[in-house]
Amino acid sequence: MIITLIGPPGSGKGTQSSRLTKQLGIPHLSTGELLREAKREGSSRSRAIAERIDAGQLVSDELIFELVDERLSSPMYQAGCLLDGVPRTLSQARMLNDLLRARGTKLDHAVALIAPQEDLVQRLLARALTEGRTDDTPETINRRMQIYDWETAPLLDYYRLHKLLRLVSAEGTPDEVFHRVMSVLQPHCWCATVRG
Ligand code: AMP
Repeated sequence: MIITLIGPPGSGKGTQSSRLTKQLGIPHLSTGELLREAKREGSSRSRAIAERIDAGQLVSDELIFELVDERLSSPMYQAGCLLDGVPRTLSQARMLNDLLRARGTKLDHAVALIAPQEDLVQRLLARALTEGRTDDTPETINRRMQIYDWETAPLLDYYRLHKLLRLVSAEGTPDEVFHRVMSVLQPHCWCATVRG
């Protein structure tokens, strides 16, 4: 089973991903995490990645799909995975379809977390104090929210049209959100398991 988790910055994609991967027994593939790892390499590629992330800008589709393709080639991803942070744009959604089709598989669910932007900004500013992520500054948060609205939010209609969209409110505690996610996935997960 392949699931993608879509959500604006601060919607809890990382928190929900770790719970979901445990519950569903599939590995996690976070493009944000892969990029933060690549950023620490100290190569010229890492400097370019750091510039984009720290400015709240998207990294190139080519680099994203190089990293995703490389990761999906590993045997542990053969039975499926939880994608977190990809696709981020309509062009990435099409690239992901092509990549999965070439691998003889397809996306089963697009889970979209939604919450009022003011609440998300407050969560991110609080996270900045505890986690110290370099892209959690007020200016960068604002830029990332804009990019979500312009580039990523159109994916909701795209996946609705393809009957893959599972919309979930990201308000409340991580437990509450997790239960909502499981309740939208459960009927479909059962079908996916039966289909094999
Ligand atoms: P995240 O951890 O998902 O919040 O991602 C952190 C940052 O990594 C984003 O603000 C982007 O700069 C970059 N990033 C993560 N995923 C993607 C993607 N699919 N396409 C382009 N840039 C990405």
